[in-house]
Amino acid sequence: MTRVLITGIAGQDGSYLAERLCAQGYDVHGIVRPESLADLGHSPNLEHVRKKITLHGTSLDDRDAIAALIASLKPDQCYHLASPTLVTSAFMRELSQLTTAVNSVHHFLSALCTSAPSCRFFFAGSSEMFGHAPAEPQNESTPFNPRSIYGIAKLAGHHLVVNFRREYGLFACTGILYNHESPRRSPQFVTRKVTMAAARISLGLEKEVRLGNIEALRDWGYAPEYVHAMQLMAEAPEPRDHVISTGVARPVRALLEQAFGAVGLDYRKYLVTDPSLFRPQEAVTLRGDSSALRSRLGWKPVKPFGEIIDEMVQHDLKLARVH
Ligand code: GDP
Repeated sequence: MTRVLITGIAGQDGSYLAERLCAQGYDVHGIVRPESLADLGHSPNLEHVRKKITLHGTSLDDRDAIAALIASLKPDQCYHLASPTLVTSAFMRELSQLTTAVNSVHHFLSALCTSAPSCRFFFAGSSEMFGHAPAEPQNESTPFNPRSIYGIAKLAGHHLVVNFRREYGLFACTGILYNHESPRRSPQFVTRKVTMAAARISLGLEKEVRLGNIEALRDWGYAPEYVHAMQLMAEAPEPRDHVISTGVARPVRALLEQAFGAVGLDYRKYLVTDPSLFRPQEAVTLRGDSSALRSRLGWKPVKPFGEIIDEMVQHDLKLARVH
């Protein structure tokens, strides 16, 4: 039985991955913060797999605890998906999160070298590693130029992955993930913010949605398909890093049209532009070229953007009716 360890298992990606691997008969273990171990047994994201998985309360800062867990589990695959969401955070304030984000990658890689050297390690990287990219679309050869502390942390993690692969022969790879959405996306991201607002406004629970720049462009994919890509990469013959993206960038305006259209409303009547939510203008759009992943491992994005957003709106309508 293949044994898998997932960090961030209660998050969007971790929970979809856990479902996918449980359905394939894998022995799935997850790491959660020690203080949330009791609560996460009840997390809605883990509803479908709660009885099939084993949760471990381990801090990502705790090198010894991670080493002990790896030594006792000796996983066949490890997916490091947990990460603080730092894209908009101030540099000085978030120094401690930067430290955890980087150190945790090292804790896992070094523990695997010592106790489970044949384990396959997948690291969730980010398009933010490209940051101020020189051109679009970006692929595996595009130079990294992070613009946020989040991007810097992810890039440092990626360098550790490459280093342990080259110097210690570990099967370690980074997925350079572009934005990927689902009903489990956290509401601080613009897609979920908009689908929740459309649902709640249509039910008379809210009156407006406050947003920043609606011409901002993003390459939005479907989270369950992106965790499939993670598994393909972890089970490939060789460890290689890949861009995981759709290759299509759309403005936030298209998201508004789709989400409000799904509930029969015109978003323009409810949109309030909030200058405090504007981010610095992007010179080059983050849009990923995933052709290497497509040709090497046969992955491709399938669910159309409109259907992703409709699924999120339907989910948010149900949630809003219950509460
Ligand atoms: P990320 O920035 O790629 O991690 O993803 P987000 O979902 O947070 O943001 C996507 C884009 O939507 C960015 O270019 C934002 O500038 C734009 N955006 C416009 N209004 C908002 C808003 O109210 N909240 C967020 N999160 N993003 C917004």
